[in-house]
Amino acid sequence: MPTPPVPPVEDCLSQENCPALAWHRQRLAELAQQAASDSLTGLWNRAHFDRMLDSELDRSRRYRQPVALILFDVDHFKRINDLHGHQAGDAVLRELALVAHSALRAPDALFRWGGEEFVILAPSTGHRGAQRLAQSLCLRVADATFPAIGKLTVSAGVAEHLDAESGNDWFQRADAMLYRAKSEGRNRICTDARGNSDRWAERNGTSALHLVWQEAYECGEPTIDGEHRRLFDLANALIDAFLSGKDESTAIVPAYERLLEHIARHFADEEAILARHGFAGLERHRCAHAGLLARAHALRSEVAAGSAGLGRLIEFLAADVVARHLFKTDSDFYTLFAGDGPSRASIPSG
Ligand code: GH3
Ligand code: MG
Ligand code: MG
Repeated sequence: MPTPPVPPVEDCLSQENCPALAWHRQRLAELAQQAASDSLTGLWNRAHFDRMLDSELDRSRRYRQPVALILFDVDHFKRINDLHGHQAGDAVLRELALVAHSALRAPDALFRWGGEEFVILAPSTGHRGAQRLAQSLCLRVADATFPAIGKLTVSAGVAEHLDAESGNDWFQRADAMLYRAKSEGRNRICTDARGNSDRWAERNGTSALHLVWQEAYECGEPTIDGEHRRLFDLANALIDAFLSGKDESTAIVPAYERLLEHIARHFADEEAILARHGFAGLERHRCAHAGLLARAHALRSEVAAGSAGLGRLIEFLAADVVARHLFKTDSDFYTLFAGDGPSRASIPSG
């Protein structure tokens, strides 16, 4: 392809206003795109796959999000070439790229691995989600009519990344699944039903029932924010104690005592800080604290007697302490500290 002419540099007044620089930047972007693409199908190529694999693995580890690979390969493609010619084979690969692309979700990336073999890199997807995606892909391909040849099918292998596994080993597991799909008769999917998503779910265990701290709960006053966070930690430790199956006296009551002690100290600290800042609603806030503390003590007696279950406890922690008090009542004073640091949006109190 002839190289387009480089624009003259005479009008180059500054770096931002330089046509030659803009031209070179644009050319570089085009060349990078070209180097990452497959010339027949326009999909990402194998070199780009290697780069993306590393960055997706990094992301998966950092955010503890699963990531899955789907390898798929045209069934009996050699016959297609033999029967209809190499050009018809090429046309089929281009059409297949479009059909496969239509089955993807926004974050999925599709690559031509080589020949009539393709790979999908599916972020935030475990082996179950990847198997569903592969099923939808195979169905779309089987439903499509390819103008150059009529009908075709594909086989697919699915594998979710496992902790400490290299990119190469992960790919080999997906490839082994593809090989099995071929040997079991083609036009099918085989999935390695292991993955980080299961391990993490198992290890996290009770965390599905935990209170989750959100940045929006911060008021900007470091002592109050630190104590609110600690309150979340102690509340979660209490939920864990309930779920541990141990009896009240050994696990639950001590965890409840630690939480109560912290709440009482935190209310006193918060009231002192609000008084120093001349908070107009201090008296009303003191009453809210006293009411909440009284309810917490009443619930303590029920917990110690074994008459309050996990449901009552979570209702108190999540609804009374977090949703009603921290998120609504406390938001009355959040504007006090707005000037202490970077600006923050106010929390709706409705
Ligand atoms: P299987 O179901 O086991 O995958 O059988 P297959 O015939 O699809 O697989 P095989 O590996 O035997 O043949 C693949 C064929 O794909 C052989 C090769 O010539 C052809 N091929 C590879 N790249 C291209 C290409 O870019 N264009 C065309 N038209 N054919 C290609
Ligand atoms: Mg094939
Ligand atoms: Mg092949």
